Amino acid sequence: MPEEPNDATPFLPERRSLAALREAAAKCRGCHLWRNATQTVFGEGLKRSRLILVGEQPGDREDRAGRPFVGPASRELDRALVAAGIERREAYLTNVVKHFKFEERGGRRIHQTPKRFEVEACRPWLDEELKVVQPEALVLLGATASKALFGSSFRLTKHRGELLDSDLADIVTATIHPSAILRGPPEDRQAQREALVADLRVVAEALG
Ligand code: SF4
Repeated sequence: MPEEPNDATPFLPERRSLAALREAAAKCRGCHLWRNATQTVFGEGLKRSRLILVGEQPGDREDRAGRPFVGPASRELDRALVAAGIERREAYLTNVVKHFKFEERGGRRIHQTPKRFEVEACRPWLDEELKVVQPEALVLLGATASKALFGSSFRLTKHRGELLDSDLADIVTATIHPSAILRGPPEDRQAQREALVADLRVVAEALG
């Protein structure tokens, strides 16, 4: 099998509608991550969405379902969106990397953080999603998504919940990935949930 170019650009379609992009992304071989995953998990939502939420990569459940944010962490996200006054169906949800990266351990598929070259290889898909949707607001969920768009020196712990200067959208902020709530100690969960809601409220208020 030929080696991948570590760049999704050659796989972009001529027509850049969301439907055409999704169809083309299903056949992307831009990096090696397609080899072990079940399928490409492209973004989901309406072209007229005012808000884009960007996570890291699909998880085990998303990989099987072919849809973003359907696993256990998505329940945390859904709850936080409701509490912040944001309608999930009004948002476009996607990830910086569109294939599930994992390692097999004891019959389970354990998430692995994508490396920088994998994030960069996949970036053309996110750039096209942003161009088509042109959201008023962009929320980066977690360190991988934040660093992908703001560079490796970006510190999520320092800047979460701040309105950030960016050409990507009028309103841009970064917060934790909802999966961090589930990974942390149970006694911290309530505080983490409240902090996620507070960060999302910043965006809800800015959107008006
Ligand atoms: S992770 Fe992105 S660049 Fe790599 S094969 Fe999948 S869609 Fe293409």
